[in-house]
Amino acid sequence: MAAFPFQKGLVETGAGLYAYLQPDGGWGWSNAGLITDGGESLLVDTLFDARLTREMLGVMADAAGVGADDIGIIVNTHANGDHTHGNGCCHKAEVIASEASAREMSELPASQLAAIMAQARAMGPAGQYLVDIFGSFDFTDVAEKLPTQTFSGEYSLKVGDIKVDLIEVGPAHTAGDVLVHVPDDKTIFTGDILFIEGTPIMWAGPVANWIAACNLIIDLKAETIVPGHGPITDVHGVRRVQDYLRYIDQEARKRYDAGLSVRDAAHDIRLGDFSSWGDAERIAVNVSALYREYSGDSAAPDVVQLFGLMAELKQ
Ligand SMILES: [Zn+2]
Repeated sequence: MAAFPFQKGLVETGAGLYAYLQPDGGWGWSNAGLITDGGESLLVDTLFDARLTREMLGVMADAAGVGADDIGIIVNTHANGDHTHGNGCCHKAEVIASEASAREMSELPASQLAAIMAQARAMGPAGQYLVDIFGSFDFTDVAEKLPTQTFSGEYSLKVGDIKVDLIEVGPAHTAGDVLVHVPDDKTIFTGDILFIEGTPIMWAGPVANWIAACNLIIDLKAETIVPGHGPITDVHGVRRVQDYLRYIDQEARKRYDAGLSVRDAAHDIRLGDFSSWGDAERIAVNVSALYREYSGDSAAPDVVQLFGLMAELKQ
């Protein structure tokens, strides 16, 4: 793999293929992708608010000659706002997502996040943590647009002459994660199936699906792997994410079997080398998801409580 610098902005990774990167890749600082050929263009994900998305689209217009209205298709890799809140900035685009992601998006509008953030300062340590991680984004200025086209399983399309395969691998990070594979260029945009140099966060699970998704990425033999967060990587980066997932599964299981609470387990697990990754406190969300998986509990987690636990671990 050619080494691509991890700098803010657009990097051309292949013929008609670009990644838009946002260091440091922590909370909300997501990557996006652009596939363009023969006057057709597909955007892989938008950003966390409309301002950031407009800024990205401006860079794409300058560097790749693809303006907002030239984008015919947006693919959302999953439902989280840092990958969808700018969909409405591309007025002519069809928005494609998995059926499961589309459902999740309609359940969690940006207005809910804006409402939580408006109260955050009165919420104690959990609120302060939210201000610390999300304070740079403007959830009152989002351009939401729900998917106009959905699929389950796999869906292939053409952008000019470039073949693009959408492969649903969720539920894993979220309910409906999708990989965007460009086989002829050995390039894959993974969404949040990969966090590189940052800690993966499992909102949904099961963990086995996520580990299998990593295996699939390895089997596809892509050489340019654009994660949802962090620098462009190769197969070694995928294996490290798998190592993390296997490790926390083992460690959480021991503590679940020993009767420890989610909170005690999250405090107790030693992250070793993984502790150098950003946002290590996400272990709280991961343990919570694993415990729900072990016990067969399908109820949605208490997200505010989980942010409180992450705030506690961060201290
Ligand atoms: Zn993300």
